Amino acid sequence: MKTALVTGASRGIGKAVASRLAADGFRVIVNYCASQGQAEALAAELNTLYSAGCTAIQADVSDRAQVEKMFAAAGEIDVLVNNAGIAQQKLFTDLTEQDWDRMFDVDVKGMFHCCQCALPYMIRQKRGKIINVSSMWGQVGASCEVHYSAAKAAVIGLTKALAKEVGPSGIQVNCVAPGVIETEMNAKLDADTIRELREETPLGVIGAAEDIAAAVSFLAGENSRFITGQVLGVNGGMII
Ligand code: NAP
Repeated sequence: MKTALVTGASRGIGKAVASRLAADGFRVIVNYCASQGQAEALAAELNTLYSAGCTAIQADVSDRAQVEKMFAAAGEIDVLVNNAGIAQQKLFTDLTEQDWDRMFDVDVKGMFHCCQCALPYMIRQKRGKIINVSSMWGQVGASCEVHYSAAKAAVIGLTKALAKEVGPSGIQVNCVAPGVIETEMNAKLDADTIRELREETPLGVIGAAEDIAAAVSFLAGENSRFITGQVLGVNGGMII
């Protein structure tokens, strides 16, 4: 049985990805930072539903020592989904250096740590899949989210460069760029903003976490064997 590690899987998109990959037959490592109860409940639920040996493991992905400890406990990883992320809306002129650093520490450096810890086994195996979660704002930029947009653009650059470097080792690195997805990350948006976003979306709906999970499932599975270094937009047509 192959093992998938999903960062930030205690809730939202990561939770849907973990559930989908367990349903696909993976043993899933449910990473979380603060939401221990939710992560452990998910791992228990996945074990009951799929008897897949799933476990919840705590690690702040921005912290190298914690990430190394998580990978040591997790064992060999066939599929790494770098999903953990934070967002923040603030005028660029109000951003502090701490805001900027925390955004990049979690959303970019977290991927650097996790990829470096996952790769030695993948390189030995001459196979493996890394799927990074970016955002459509990393493709086109969002007002009042300059540090988030810059971090998510960095994720796309990381994906493309790493895909070139580890492709010869049989490892695929791809990226999913979600549009507006209904999770706690967007809970602060008011009804008018949600309506406007829906109206701007050609398919006329806000996405569900399961829509991202379906794209990750494809990239994690055998049907994506000739795809690497790509950015798969899952955004209802908002960014084309
Ligand atoms: P969410 O509901 O806020 O969930 C965030 C997840 O990330 C939680 O499981 C959280 O774990 C985890 N996390 C946060 N900081 C972490 C850290 N330092 N170390 C480990 N885990 C950490 O967000 P979401 O909407 O599901 O977003 C998931 C990903 O999709 C993010 O990368 C986000 O940028 C991206 N995305 C989301 C949307 C959207 O519309 N929702 C759109 C584009 C891209 P704890 O609760 O345990 O802290």
